[in-house]
Amino acid sequence: MTATAPREEQLWSRCAGCASLLYRKRLRRNLDVCPECGEHARLGAPERLRQLVDPGSLRPLADRLPEADPIDFVDVLPYPHRLTAARASTGLVEAVVCATATIGGHPVAMAVMDFRFLGGSLGCAVGELITRTAERALDERIPLVLVTASGGARMQEGVLSLMQMATVSQAIAALREAGLLTVSVLTDPTYGGVAASFATNTDLVLAESGARMGFAGPRVIRQVTGRALPEGFQTADFLLRHGQVDMVVQRRSLRGRLMALLAATHAGAPTRPSVPRQEPAPHRERLAAADEAAAGPPATPEADATPAVRDAWDTVRMARHPGRPTTLDYLDSVFDGFVELHGDRLGADCPAIVGGLARLAGRHVMVIGHQKGHTTAELVARNFGMASPAGHRKALRLMRLAARLGLPVVTLVDTPGADPGVSAEEHGQAAAIAENILALTVLPTPVLTVITGEGGSGGALALAVADRVLMLENAVYSVISPEGCAAILWPDRSAAPQAARALRLSAPDLRRLGVVDEVVPEPPAAAHDDPAETALRLRTALLANLLPLLDVPPAMLVRLRRQRFRRFGATRAGQRAGVR
Ligand SMILES: [Zn+2]
Repeated sequence: MTATAPREEQLWSRCAGCASLLYRKRLRRNLDVCPECGEHARLGAPERLRQLVDPGSLRPLADRLPEADPIDFVDVLPYPHRLTAARASTGLVEAVVCATATIGGHPVAMAVMDFRFLGGSLGCAVGELITRTAERALDERIPLVLVTASGGARMQEGVLSLMQMATVSQAIAALREAGLLTVSVLTDPTYGGVAASFATNTDLVLAESGARMGFAGPRVIRQVTGRALPEGFQTADFLLRHGQVDMVVQRRSLRGRLMALLAATHAGAPTRPSVPRQEPAPHRERLAAADEAAAGPPATPEADATPAVRDAWDTVRMARHPGRPTTLDYLDSVFDGFVELHGDRLGADCPAIVGGLARLAGRHVMVIGHQKGHTTAELVARNFGMASPAGHRKALRLMRLAARLGLPVVTLVDTPGADPGVSAEEHGQAAAIAENILALTVLPTPVLTVITGEGGSGGALALAVADRVLMLENAVYSVISPEGCAAILWPDRSAAPQAARALRLSAPDLRRLGVVDEVVPEPPAAAHDDPAETALRLRTALLANLLPLLDVPPAMLVRLRRQRFRRFGATRAGQRAGVR
């Protein structure tokens, strides 16, 4: 019966993923995600805003601009006719809806693109509207959130549409300079000029589950190369694997994830957690007690006072013990609310470096560390904590982001050294490490490093040019591994124990040399015997060392940090003699 057909269409909708016939209202209640197969249907901008912002907080920004048909473009239809048709079918004025709103109580400026409107194409009006939204964010000193959905530039506006990539990017650069957070949420599809500008040059890039993003579309690439494309090419998970996005987020988690990120980066101001602490486990109470202890004068026992009884080679074996807590363990036990950020934006996401936003006693920090593992499988998956150039570039990206947002950086060093592979060399390992060391010397935010396990040569230093360097009692920090040293300077590698002693790589030795500022005592016999107590002690030491740095103006921090490292060049023979 033809008379009922339109009504049927409104009530039911067919999933593009599994072809299930779905009751429209049920689908909408499920945020337009297929309950059968999880397919995320495309959303128009108004519905997207409704899902993301706090009810009643939306304040649309002006969207009327002078009519633009800058190059009098005509294909089979004059461009103005296409605009008129797009407006009639969507009820929108342009392919983007801009507004201010709050998300979880955090004010933001938002620009949400709508693919239904001429494929979400980036024309002069879209560029102007997004730029104005960014300027509004700058005026009000609030974060900018962009939700992208676009086939690329609007060809009907010719090279002027191309210019919008630069216009919007400039506005994003101004927000960077002002230390204001920019976030883009990639939704399906995001291609061409939008992908190559404001979809990816924001501080944080989230991809909605199922989104595809790329510069050239798959059809074009297949035509040009004449080859089949890899499975899952340009999908959100592919992008995550290749370091292009910080995270892939299911639609139902998107609002919550944005709230967490906005809270963590709230102008770097120390804020109290807005939700009560979960799981009041006994160790959390102990941690709270540690916070109070840290508020007073540093109560960390001076490890130097107790003579080191452990042989250097034993310490090396302790530092490498597979049960020793890893960076992810400390992120769980010492910090709260860790949100991992991924990728170097150049093609990879190195598993040997983990980093992201976290809280330390309610203060937001950026934590970056080497990740090893407890089992052989974990160690292999993490490349034994040996960072690739991509890992160093990811770390660099997160350090710079922290500085821009006024967040202190805490690095946890535990690596045998940088990845010594052929591919690492091909991808510029040396330059990547050099760039990190240079960037850290001038990073205008507090940097606190803890050598938690192995501090292996340049790979360690790439995370350790800090205002304060702490070291766990049984960690080691050395220019070369004892085995490597033995192989070069002794008849064979079996001399590693002697080399370990000669290298002065233990915490007490390095404290005496001034390379390390404080030794954090481990519980008996070592960290892996009582990880909870180790976490407690580390947290106390972190707070005692970090809090004073927060009061130092950034320019002075940088000056003092440079002096700290300059003085090693002038180490006198007399100081060396002070070592056993
Ligand atoms: Zn489905």
